Amino acid sequence: MKALVAIKRVIDYNVKVRVKADHSGVDLSNTKMSINPFCEIAVEEAVRLKEAGVVDEVIVASIGPKEAQEQIRAALALGADRGILVQTEDKAYPLQVAKILKGIAEQEGADIILLGKIAIDDDNNQTGQMLAALMGVGQGTFASKVEVVEGKANVTREVDGGLETIALPLPAIITTDLRLNEPRYAKLPNIMKAKKKPLDEKTPADFGVTMTSKQDVIKVTPPPERSAGIKVASVDELIDKLKNEAHVI
Ligand code: AMP
Repeated sequence: MKALVAIKRVIDYNVKVRVKADHSGVDLSNTKMSINPFCEIAVEEAVRLKEAGVVDEVIVASIGPKEAQEQIRAALALGADRGILVQTEDKAYPLQVAKILKGIAEQEGADIILLGKIAIDDDNNQTGQMLAALMGVGQGTFASKVEVVEGKANVTREVDGGLETIALPLPAIITTDLRLNEPRYAKLPNIMKAKKKPLDEKTPADFGVTMTSKQDVIKVTPPPERSAGIKVASVDELIDKLKNEAHVI
């Protein structure tokens, strides 16, 4: 059985995001980039499925600039077997990404396709769902537990009212939630080994996809600065401020 994991190169979650002076986008110069945290959880889950003997091979794929090789190598150091970089300098929107992932999944004959529930740069939460629709297969989104039994993926999902468990025939799309697992740290020998693992380079055209989008970014602005909070000395002072300054009670 093969697992395909989609990983996105994003600004590291610890970095304070800077907006470009001309408001055309986010400034990525000299900025630490990492695997999107939810994609890291997806890699960890695929590697655990391999360690459990459920999956024979874990393939990671990323659509992005040449530098996304760094994130693919990082995933290989976590235990994935090989990587595919679909190189493009164009912005990768969810629909284009889903179309390319469909091409890879079909070419590879992937049984389990794991994605993050959301990429923390654009906050779309769309790619997994679009991929399931394009491939015409089932989807288990926001997974907090995955078990593969008798050719089916039993996915426990975090929904508004609690937890829901669904059974998906394979191939299936699974998107990861925060509580699915805690990703391991890569050990130094594995980082060295990862340098020798295969990494194929492709282009969107190899999958018949053009990166033109029906979406345009018009302007990017940082959120308004929040004024600092204060400490009140007593409940009476708090009530007074809520009543007479904030006018909320
Ligand atoms: P999004 O729909 O943009 O919030 O992304 C959800 C998930 O789709 C991510 O966690 C990745 O697993 C996958 N994904 C999105 N963009 C890319 C990309 N450029 N390359 C690889 N995977 C991606």
